[in-house]
Amino acid sequence: MNSERNLVANHASRRRETRYWEAVLARDRRADGAFFFAVRSTSIYCRPSCPARRPLRTNTVFFRTRQEAERQGYRPCRRCKPDQIPVATLVVQRAAQVLENEVDEPVNVNLLARRVGVRTDALRRAFRQQTGLNPKQLAAALRLRRFKRLLRQGHGIADALYATGYGSASRVYEGSDAQLGMTPATYQKGGRGMQIKYTMSKSSLGQVLVAATERGVSAVYLGDAPRKLVSELRQEYPHAEIATEKGAFSEWVNEIVARIEGSAPRRELPLDLQATAFQRRVWQELQRIPRGTTTTYKQVAKALGKPRAVRAVAQACASNPVSIVVPCHRVVRADGNLAGYRWGLGRKQKLLEREQGGAEVSRVA
Ligand SMILES: [Zn+2]
Repeated sequence: MNSERNLVANHASRRRETRYWEAVLARDRRADGAFFFAVRSTSIYCRPSCPARRPLRTNTVFFRTRQEAERQGYRPCRRCKPDQIPVATLVVQRAAQVLENEVDEPVNVNLLARRVGVRTDALRRAFRQQTGLNPKQLAAALRLRRFKRLLRQGHGIADALYATGYGSASRVYEGSDAQLGMTPATYQKGGRGMQIKYTMSKSSLGQVLVAATERGVSAVYLGDAPRKLVSELRQEYPHAEIATEKGAFSEWVNEIVARIEGSAPRRELPLDLQATAFQRRVWQELQRIPRGTTTTYKQVAKALGKPRAVRAVAQACASNPVSIVVPCHRVVRADGNLAGYRWGLGRKQKLLEREQGGAEVSRVA
C-alpha cells in the first residue's frame, strides 16, 4: 500500500521534472520563477530561460525556490540572474495558484490581492505586465479548464456548470470558442459513436500509435511507452469504442512511418476527427506548409484572416491529435525558438532536420 503510494508520488514528480526539462530546453520565459534548475558540475543555478548552453539532463537538478537551491550550495548564474526575478512574475504566479484552487466564486480582485499579499493596483499592474489577461480573465480560463476536466470525467453539463460556478450554459459557450476552440456540447461527445482501432508501430523516433476509424486516421502519437500512448488515446476519445488490431490499415501506418523517417508523402491520408470549425481551419492551414519549411503561429493566424488569434492558433496546434499527418511540428515561434511539441521537443527537432535534408535546426533565438 505504502509502496504503491510512493510509486504514484514518484511518477508524479518524474512527470513534473519532464515538464521542467522541456521548459528548460525551450528556454520558456513563462516558467521563470516557477522553478529553478541547477547544474551539478558547475554548482550554479539558473532560471529556465537562461541563454547559456543547456546542461546535460543527467547533470541537472530542479528546485521550486531559489532558497532551496542556495541551501544546497548552488550559486546564482551571472547571466540570467535567477536571484532577481521580477516581483511582477512572482505576484502573478502566486495569484494563479490562489485562483486555481478557488474558482467557484466570482473573483474579487481586492480579496485576491490581499491573499497574494500585495495592493490591488500592484496586482493589476503585475497582470498587465506579465500576461495579456486581467485577473478575472485568468480566473475564467482556469475555471474553464476545470469545467472541461469535469465533462471529461463524465459529469453532465448541468453538474459541471454547478460545480464550477458558471451561471448558465450560455456563459460557457460565449467564452469557450476563443479559449478552447471547442464548445462543451462537442466536447462531451468525446468520441461517442466512434469505433476506433489502433495499432503500434516502431520508428527511429520511438513508438508510433496510429488509430483510425473506417473512414480515416483519428490519432497519430509518438512516444516511448506504448501503454502511455494508449491511455492518451482513451483520454482523447473517452466515449469511443477502442480496440487494438495488429496490422490494421497497414498502408496508412507505413505511409506515416515513412514520413517520420523523412520521406516525402506518397499517398493521401484521409482523416476522421472530431474538431470545431476553427480547429479544422487551422489544421487544414498546417497541411499547406511545404515540407522542409517552417512557419509561425502568427503567420498561420494571418493566413486564416484572424491576425489576432495567435493564441487560439497555438492552442489548435497543441490539440492536434494527428501528428505528422497534420504537420504541427512545422510551426515555430517568431524568434526561431521551437516552442513546444506534445511529443517532445527532441522529436520535433529531428522531424524538422529530416525534412530540411539533415540541416541542423537551431532551437536558440
Ligand atoms: Zn543562467
